[in-house]
Amino acid sequence: RIAYVNGCYVPHNQAAVHIEDRGYQFADGVYEVCEIADGYIIDMTRHLERLNRSLSELQMAWPVNKEAFVHIVKEVVVRNRVRNGLVYIQVTRGVAKRDHVFPEPATKSALVITARRSDPAIAEMKLKTGVGVITVPENRWDRVDIKTVGLLPNVMAKQKAKEQGAAEAWFVDADGMVKEGGSTNAWIVTQDGTLVTRPADHGILRGITRATAIDAASTLGLKFEERPFSVEEAKNAREAFITAATTILIPVISIDGDSVANGHPGSITEQLRSQFRLEVEKISVY
Ligand code: PLP
Repeated sequence: RIAYVNGCYVPHNQAAVHIEDRGYQFADGVYEVCEIADGYIIDMTRHLERLNRSLSELQMAWPVNKEAFVHIVKEVVVRNRVRNGLVYIQVTRGVAKRDHVFPEPATKSALVITARRSDPAIAEMKLKTGVGVITVPENRWDRVDIKTVGLLPNVMAKQKAKEQGAAEAWFVDADGMVKEGGSTNAWIVTQDGTLVTRPADHGILRGITRATAIDAASTLGLKFEERPFSVEEAKNAREAFITAATTILIPVISIDGDSVANGHPGSITEQLRSQFRLEVEKISVY
């Protein structure tokens, strides 16, 4: 495997960053994960827009210009011969003597890009079987709309889910309303067939898969509401599912051990997932 690190393509097992990189010292960095499907990068424009927003919220500069950036992303995918999988992009504020405030003069942002293969059959299987989720109290900061590499609450929540045999943990706010998963956005389908997901304010990450799923729902003419929903409402919903670039759209069949509807993936989730494929932007790599 080949990784891109600050201007060089290097063997993955020799790729390294400086110990005083601020990503390492302070989690002072942001990232993106894009899906690669059949040799295309999925929804890259939206991912780059979100990266741009994350960078500007943290007053961080682009490490290279956008044309070069796109070229490097494609190059990493090609060099790793990935046709199905994902590409991981990380930008940190760069290397400086450890001090909390931004370095002056500003350091050059550091860029790391890796790509890896995944088996589309595994995602297909999850679509058929569905997954369980647990709920955990929200304990993250109030700017989770910025996609930073500071993910310890997400790590802890997802580990807890794994230990309980679930695939995801949903963060729940003080009012009992579902925010999002540790690495996915959360959705339900109400008994009358309306799709519901929480508004993308500062309290959740504005998922790219979420955005494209909203487009797909509109194409299909499905009813859609952007509003918070409670854990109780989700347990009593007709269907529930999660979205993320790494998994696309996966049915949720149980919440804290209680089954959602009859405990089987629902037809609206499946319909939306099929339409999703037709809705995405595809940038050819090969
Ligand atoms: N919410 C969180 C906390 C995430 O980390 C992610 C993805 O990593 C998502 C939602 C889904 O976002 P996307 O669809 O852009 O992958």
